[in-house]
Amino acid sequence: MEASREFVYQKFTEYYQDPSTLIPATTMPEQREFAYLMFKERFMVRHRRFAEFKNLRSALAETVPSDVYHSCAYYENPDFDMDKKGWLGADLVFDIDADHIPTNCDKIHDEFTCTKCGFSCRGIIPETCPACEATKFEAKTWPCELCIQSARDETAKLLDMLENDFGFSQDDLHVYFSGHRGYHVHIENEAVRSLDAMARKEIVDYVTGLGLGILDKEPEEKRGKSVASKKFSLHNFGWNRRLKLGMQNFLLNATKEDLKKAGIRNNALLKNRETIIKRCINEGRWESINDVSVQTWLKLAEYIRDSQSSKIDTVVTTDIHRLIRMNGTLHGKTGLKKVEFPAKNLQTFDPFTGAVAFKKGTTKVLVSDAPEFRLGGETLGPYKNQTVELPVAAAVMLICKRRAVVAN
Ligand SMILES: [Zn+2]
Ligand SMILES: [Zn+2]
Repeated sequence: MEASREFVYQKFTEYYQDPSTLIPATTMPEQREFAYLMFKERFMVRHRRFAEFKNLRSALAETVPSDVYHSCAYYENPDFDMDKKGWLGADLVFDIDADHIPTNCDKIHDEFTCTKCGFSCRGIIPETCPACEATKFEAKTWPCELCIQSARDETAKLLDMLENDFGFSQDDLHVYFSGHRGYHVHIENEAVRSLDAMARKEIVDYVTGLGLGILDKEPEEKRGKSVASKKFSLHNFGWNRRLKLGMQNFLLNATKEDLKKAGIRNNALLKNRETIIKRCINEGRWESINDVSVQTWLKLAEYIRDSQSSKIDTVVTTDIHRLIRMNGTLHGKTGLKKVEFPAKNLQTFDPFTGAVAFKKGTTKVLVSDAPEFRLGGETLGPYKNQTVELPVAAAVMLICKRRAVVAN
């Protein structure tokens, strides 16, 4: 193995072998499938069962995987083949990853190379290669602060719905930084365990605002006719309340530009904002302003729905056999750890200090290309083709991100 990978492997080994490393116990480990990606061989070991958590700890110290996962599901026989495992239930999990969220940074820090034709470009990874239409890429990504903030905002909307609309308590909501550029929310509450894939899809639809009665009806052309006779109304619970508050907020602050973004041409909404808010939103007399039609309200409500929905990775939540990264273990793409923090600290928890696993020592690396970044309380970079002595955590991250090699 080349020196740089060997260096990272060494650090991962120290982490998993250090008895003072805190790895919180997984709930009911004996009923979970554990899986891990082998550091050197790069294959996934699946269907492992650990009757006791301490056995898992020793297995990690011995094998030193690059990534560790466990099933959200509980099984009678977690070490059997999938069809013989005997599914007993599963946690309800949500994954919010900057990869799936449009951001202001436009992901210019990411770079992808087509594995078929070698076409390479910066920015968001496309579905298919612009040069040859192949679909496999080598990606170089970066956990940038804007990306993480956007994931944090989406997580905040999700937590708000889980608490206020679904009625989970803060204690039910286990919130984690994923170790890369996103967040996970796990609910282990008994009430969710038996939900099947269909029921989970319903929850996904709610969170993403899909199929809201008031908005998703007949197609546009039909709507034109029926809409004149239709009344617009919103009640005070769940999404209706969310739309109302969002619309009120929008009206208070909107500029002409914002209207345009919402696809609304008519500027009537900006005149007499106070009257409109009072009569239409507060008193529910939506048709009391001549220049503001039901269509306009629908358009605005759609826009608010899109901004208030949470951009979760929908596949993760509906998959009742899903493997998810284990709390307290290292992410192979960053060397940061997945770490839990209280839901109420979402805005204040700083992954670039709180998820740092390697806190001692420095090492010399040759950095090809890195933007300015913050890690472990220090601001580092930008670097371009230069040898620098870095804290171990930063060196590990740059090597994992394939932006540096060990120097000498
Ligand atoms: Zn290509
Ligand atoms: Zn970014």
